[in-house]
Amino acid sequence: MAEPVLTIRDLRVYFNIRAGTVRAVDGVDLDIAEGEKLGLVGESGSGKTTTALAIMRMIKPPGEIAGGTISLDGRDLVELSEPEMRSVRGNDIAMVPQAAMNALNPVRRVRDQMLDGLRDHGVNESRNRMQDRLTTLMAQVGLNANVLDLFPHELSGGMKQRVTIAMAICHNPRLILADEPTSALDVVVQRQVMETLEDVRSEIGAAVILVGHDMGLMAQFADRIGVMYAGKLVELATVEQIFANPRHPYTRLLISSLPDTDGKKRLQGIPGLPPSLLAVPPGCPFMPRCPEAMDICGVEAPELIGDIDIVSCHLHTETRVA
Ligand code: SF4
Repeated sequence: MAEPVLTIRDLRVYFNIRAGTVRAVDGVDLDIAEGEKLGLVGESGSGKTTTALAIMRMIKPPGEIAGGTISLDGRDLVELSEPEMRSVRGNDIAMVPQAAMNALNPVRRVRDQMLDGLRDHGVNESRNRMQDRLTTLMAQVGLNANVLDLFPHELSGGMKQRVTIAMAICHNPRLILADEPTSALDVVVQRQVMETLEDVRSEIGAAVILVGHDMGLMAQFADRIGVMYAGKLVELATVEQIFANPRHPYTRLLISSLPDTDGKKRLQGIPGLPPSLLAVPPGCPFMPRCPEAMDICGVEAPELIGDIDIVSCHLHTETRVA
């Protein structure tokens, strides 16, 4: 793997509420190489969005980063002061949000919002130069420059999401976090937005973490896929490996819940619910839902094994012993 741009070790994000401590992210390790596209998948509450928010240091109380390191080009973000982190956000790491409408100010024109984004990070050039920058950014995301004069309510969902992508890339970040960026869009627009994201990513050479639950979307976009369950990474492998030979039963079920192209396959859901993160039972947290559970699964939590393709499941424990 190329030199990692982001290295996460033993990341823990806890929410301390009256009922106890919710371990939303509990010991996650991840490396993301320069220019890599990593998909993070899992059901709601699996910890994928919380991991992305932790990378941005945007966890709000009662949540906190309870431990671990998040190193961007060797600099531990967890240790940075808030002013230092403010400069990292936007300049080095940018976020493409899930709900573009909520991310844009409804009463300001696109141009003014984009100018604010540039000026907030110290770009203050002549009016003509700034205009050139905005026009170039619009072109990069496939939008006409006249979109700059519109208000968000005058844009379609796909256009709004392209504007947020333009805002995200305006400082050529090293890493883009895209949290379900197409969840509110129809499939045709979804594809166009993902193509736009891929085009700008390859143009500026940024790494991308795509957060979502749609394995089909991940298959089209990602180089590697990390599967999260109950606050932990349970499998991480190349997209080819994940689809050709998924090793964790949860990954297999996620893939089998995808529809086929001719629509003849019976859709298979995943029975049951994830455990409460207030009190995760001993052993493997997936055990109550796992069709392949064994006796050991209820008493001993499986460790993550492997170097490049990693998995945490007792079905593969022998690999570790050998
Ligand atoms: Fe299923 Fe056991 Fe593997 Fe957990 S450790 S996923 S319960 S087989």
